[in-house]
Amino acid sequence: MITEPQYFHTIIIGAGPAGLRATFDIADMGFLPLLIDREEKSGGKLKEIDKWFSLDSCGFCRLLDAETRPILLSEENEILCLRHGIAKRNIPFWSSSAPVSVKSDENGFEIEIARGCGEKRIVKCSAVIITTGLEDSHLSCYSNFLAGRDPDVISAIQFEKLISYASPKPITRPSDSSPVKSIAFIACAGSRDNEHPWCSASCCSYLAREIGEVKKIDPSIQTILFYMDLRLYGKGMFLYGKNHLEGTRLINSKPAQISRSNQGSLIVTAGTESGIEKFYVDMVVLSGGNSPQNQNLFKMFDVETDRFGFPVCGSAINPLSTTNPRVFVAGSARNPCDIATSVMEGRAAASSALKLLLDSKGEKQKQKNGKILVIGGGISGLYAADSASSLGYDVAILEKEKEISGIARNILLDPHERNVNKILNEISSQILSKENVRVITGEEAVKIEGRPSNFRVKLRSGKILSNYDSIIIATGAPLFQDSRVDGKRILNLHQAEKIVQSKKTFEKDVVFIQCTGSRDDFHPYCNRICCPKAVT
Ligand code: SF4
Ligand code: SF4
Repeated sequence: MITEPQYFHTIIIGAGPAGLRATFDIADMGFLPLLIDREEKSGGKLKEIDKWFSLDSCGFCRLLDAETRPILLSEENEILCLRHGIAKRNIPFWSSSAPVSVKSDENGFEIEIARGCGEKRIVKCSAVIITTGLEDSHLSCYSNFLAGRDPDVISAIQFEKLISYASPKPITRPSDSSPVKSIAFIACAGSRDNEHPWCSASCCSYLAREIGEVKKIDPSIQTILFYMDLRLYGKGMFLYGKNHLEGTRLINSKPAQISRSNQGSLIVTAGTESGIEKFYVDMVVLSGGNSPQNQNLFKMFDVETDRFGFPVCGSAINPLSTTNPRVFVAGSARNPCDIATSVMEGRAAASSALKLLLDSKGEKQKQKNGKILVIGGGISGLYAADSASSLGYDVAILEKEKEISGIARNILLDPHERNVNKILNEISSQILSKENVRVITGEEAVKIEGRPSNFRVKLRSGKILSNYDSIIIATGAPLFQDSRVDGKRILNLHQAEKIVQSKKTFEKDVVFIQCTGSRDDFHPYCNRICCPKAVT
């Protein structure tokens, strides 16, 4: 008997943080997702580490919404610990499974999936989200670091096992099991070189976490960190790095070579401010880094990739879209990113897939009724309003300035050299044409009362906005007011951008000074936008 293939609204390939988040969101909106992963358990790369930065704890439960925490490991609960590979019971999760062939038509895909048990199943879906992450960069190109040739030169992921809860202590050398007294950590090994010309985005943070863990296990172990930049992204990460790296010798250099001394130590040779120096240590940890692994998968779904294997974005308005309008990509599979960004992208990809489903015939009845207030009409507020309105919500955007679009209006080009004003005009007109979106400009919220499903917002003018189910705060951040900026010879980036926009030339050579108003004791975070902006 021939049976009709089972239909799922969206198939999510890859059960790491981005895939799990996308799956939960699609299920929460009343649609049927199918989550598949080639591994036996969910969690992706995060399964390999005991503790996440910046929580320094397991952290898997953070992938779930606050109301579904805490998770109790019990057969009776609907949701079990994600580390054990079980998500919500009502969500199908096919582990040890991968697509082997794909047919597509104007309604979606018919996918043949090979399962670990040897069975092959054919399923149908309207949209696909790829969240397969990246693989560890092959360190074989680091033959000068003895990578793969010396047991005491290991990757950060291998080192994770030596410091995990379950490992015996003290930390010992893999070569002879002798206690370790000194460790060199080398950042950017596997990234930012000719073979991997990108930043892997999370290795600075996990090296800081591992070094902090070493100090907790045995404060007498000497630690040295060789780094090119310390890219500790996120609002708490600068202080996190500062605390975790206290007592560690920081050397701003990428070493040239690792060798063995006759006495058995490893010798790290690096150029420093004092010239060429040699550092004698018991063990070396290479950060590793990540590389694309999905070329075949992208090819199967007719998604173009660049020369490194990363997917080509389909549209500036939706960076998670691909060259196939029914395929979205999130997390590190799109672009190396940290855990928090992966989760956000998983959520955004789910929203894009739902928008596609709701736009298609027959799914209108699943649209949500309700009211959402977006405070802030900058680019993130506009995206949020666009997604929420596409899901059927009545949306109001509240913007204190006279016009929507926020500080992005001052930016000429984005890091991909796309015209930001053109993108803003496109998304603004798309939003303003929607019947279920209204824009309130020149007004500011002064008081918010109530609770979810019944928020009441008082505006500066005295008007009241009431009965809002949810409020999205997207007010951005004001520009740092640096008293040294005089607008003539000392400019901030926005003022410099205006000169570039007006096509005037600078009278003299220009010096860019980065990180003013960031990464100091008063602003302990990286703003993430000023480096790419200065380069553009
Ligand atoms: S996150 Fe840090 S260690 Fe990793 S590639 Fe980027 S700069 Fe290098
Ligand atoms: S200039 Fe800005 S983006 Fe660059 S490192 Fe400093 S704070 Fe971060």
